[in-house]
Amino acid sequence: MTNLIDSGKTKELFETEDKNVLRVHYTDHTTAGDGLRNELIDNKGAVNNQISSLIFQFLTKNDIPNHFIKKISDTDQLNQRVNMIPLEVVVRNLSSGHFQKRFGTDDLQKLSKTVVEFFMKSDHLHDPMLNDLDAQALNIAKENELITMRHLALKVNRFMSELFMDMGIILVDFKLEFGINDNGQIILADEISPDSCRLIDATTKNSLDKDVFRKQEGNMMNGYYKILHKLENELG
Ligand code: 5GP
Repeated sequence: MTNLIDSGKTKELFETEDKNVLRVHYTDHTTAGDGLRNELIDNKGAVNNQISSLIFQFLTKNDIPNHFIKKISDTDQLNQRVNMIPLEVVVRNLSSGHFQKRFGTDDLQKLSKTVVEFFMKSDHLHDPMLNDLDAQALNIAKENELITMRHLALKVNRFMSELFMDMGIILVDFKLEFGINDNGQIILADEISPDSCRLIDATTKNSLDKDVFRKQEGNMMNGYYKILHKLENELG
C-alpha cells in the first residue's frame, strides 16, 4: 500500500518506496470554471495518461528536462518528485480563450509573436496573471527561474507545434507547470494533454480538446481519441 500524499482536480499523487519518485494516478474528473464544474468522463484518465506519457517521452528525446519516468498502467505513471513552482506558464501561438477576450481579437487570430504568460496558481483568486516583477516580489520565482521557464516553454512549443503540425493539428495554446528537483534544477512537470492544450484540426478548425467540454459542445472524448491515435501513429 502506498500513501496518497496529494490530490488535485484531476490527478492523485501517491508515495512509492523511493522517496524521490511519485506514482501519479490520472482520474476521469474533468473540470471547468476553476473547478466549479466537475464531471466524470469515462476513460478520460487513461487517455490523458497515455497522451501525456507519449508527449513527455517525445520531449525527453528532444532534451527537455522533465519529471516523467515511465507509464506503469493504463491510468498511472511514475514521475520524479519535485517542488512545484505555483505558476501556470501559458504559451500562445494564436489568439483564443482568455487572450482573445482580454484583447477583443478574432478567435484564432494570428499573433505576430509567440506569447508566454505567467499566472499564479490560485483557484480562489481565479489564477491571476502576473509579470516577472510580480512573481519576484511575491517570492514565487526568482528572475533566473522565470527566464529558464520562459526559455523552456518556447522550446517545448517549437517541438510540439511541429509534432502536431505533422499530424494535421494546430497547437493554438497550452499551459505548462514546472518544478525544482533535488539537484535544484528546474524541470517540466505536471501533464500535457488535451486538458491543458488547445488543439484544432488544421483543415476543419474543429476543437479536439477540453474546449468542447468548456463550451458544452458535445462529447469531448472524440477529439481526445483522435489525438491519442495520431500520436501513437507518429511516435508509437
Ligand atoms: P486560457 O488562458 O485562454 O484560458 O488558456 C490558455 C491555455 O492554457 C489553454 O490551452 C488551456 O487549456 C490552458 N490552461 C489555462 N489554465 C489552465 C488550468 O488551470 N488547467 C488546465 N488544465 N489548463 C489550463
